[in-house]
Amino acid sequence: MELPLYVKNILDTLSKGGYEAYAVGGCVRDSLLGIVPGDYDICTSALPEEVIELFREFTVVPTGIKHGTVTVVSDAPVEITSFRSEGKYSDNRHPDSVIFVKSVEEDLSRRDFTVNAMAYSQQRGIVDPFGGICDLEKKIIRCVGDPETRFDEDGLRIMRALRFASVYGFEIEKDTESALRKKRTLLLGISEERLFAEMSKLLMGQSAHIIIDKYPEVIGTFIPEILPMIGFRQHTPHHHLDVWKHTMKVLENSWGDDLSMRWSALLHDCKKPDCFVLDKNGRGHFTSHQELGAKNAFNILTRLKCDNKTKNEVVSLIENHDLYFRGDIPDMQRLINRLGKELPKRIFRFRVYDSMAQNPNTVPEKLLECQRAMKIYNEVVENKLCCFVSDLEIDGFDLIKLGVKPGKQIGETLTKLLFAVIDKKCENNRDKLAAYVADYILKAGNL
Ligand code: ATP
Ligand code: MG
Repeated sequence: MELPLYVKNILDTLSKGGYEAYAVGGCVRDSLLGIVPGDYDICTSALPEEVIELFREFTVVPTGIKHGTVTVVSDAPVEITSFRSEGKYSDNRHPDSVIFVKSVEEDLSRRDFTVNAMAYSQQRGIVDPFGGICDLEKKIIRCVGDPETRFDEDGLRIMRALRFASVYGFEIEKDTESALRKKRTLLLGISEERLFAEMSKLLMGQSAHIIIDKYPEVIGTFIPEILPMIGFRQHTPHHHLDVWKHTMKVLENSWGDDLSMRWSALLHDCKKPDCFVLDKNGRGHFTSHQELGAKNAFNILTRLKCDNKTKNEVVSLIENHDLYFRGDIPDMQRLINRLGKELPKRIFRFRVYDSMAQNPNTVPEKLLECQRAMKIYNEVVENKLCCFVSDLEIDGFDLIKLGVKPGKQIGETLTKLLFAVIDKKCENNRDKLAAYVADYILKAGNL
């Protein structure tokens, strides 16, 4: 296994000090999968004070000294954790105590999944007491030890299992799978922040649509709002799939896009079952599911302590996800004025993912609409066409000089000028705008 030089140096320092030291956990798993690890964790037989002493020439931060972890800042920060086992878990989340242990094997036995319970050192090569390499080859997530006990110790592991399966496209081993289904209500005891973080990683995974489709009742323990979508028939020529299967398809289509897009994919149609009305021709309608869906997403993401940026993006996208753009350049300028510069682009992108999950007969026409909207959007942006008052070549101070009274008239006049420019009644040029103010606004008393 190849390690970066700074990690090798840290391992060398520890072993020259007379201690065992290994790269461990995620970095071993990722290296074996041919993925460049995001970070490197080290475990060692040295106790925290001994690590601090050995690395006194470095910046050492006692990040989790109670649990045996210190962080050595080299080219990147590296967490060094003393071999430990974990004591009894009385709250299903945190070990009541940690006990330092002698061997790396004992340390590996407290880790969650076989693929995460491997260590590497130059002296010993890969240490793999639980068959992690074999499970990586078979693409399987399997608990170390008895799955039910392991989930009882820490309920978050249920979501970690789903997350790893989604990110790597793995399956969950049978006993681990039935244990996580059985123990799913343990998730109710996990903090919302941690659930949100795991769910977000799961959503970013290549197999999110497969895993969520396979374990909806697990996700549904902490996001019950998704459950009514399952099997809900739509009774409309626009859709060949029920709301849930459609949602899974939108997730599949939006893979590779950002987190807000992935959350939007999951939540955009949650409120369809609540809004469903069958007309006299037997056709289904879902009036207002966008607005209700946006409120619903707001409530879910607030409860899960999602950051405001992501939350706002998801809420405004869901609110507008059925926006049908038929207009031309000035309509696009008005749309950008109303929704901001970024949102329309996201809406059109989302509509591609959404359309491609609808009745195949209707897809070509819907895609053409999205393509046309994107083309017009790009024309507006590339040509830097006026969309906001701040894009005007004239400002409030100029207007005062021209005789507009300070106060709310300034804003109103600028808005009038903006729409005059959008409607091509006036060019966006200082002199022309000044003349327009004099002729059409001040003289005509249009204010
Ligand atoms: P990533 O960094 O990609 O999220 P990772 O496997 O490195 O994945 P971390 O949360 O960084 O995950 O944890 C590092 C290692 O610590 C894991 O590989 C695993 O061995 C162990 N570990 C982490 N969380 C738990 C847990 N809840 N229960 C048991 N072991 C865990
Ligand atoms: Mg990690």
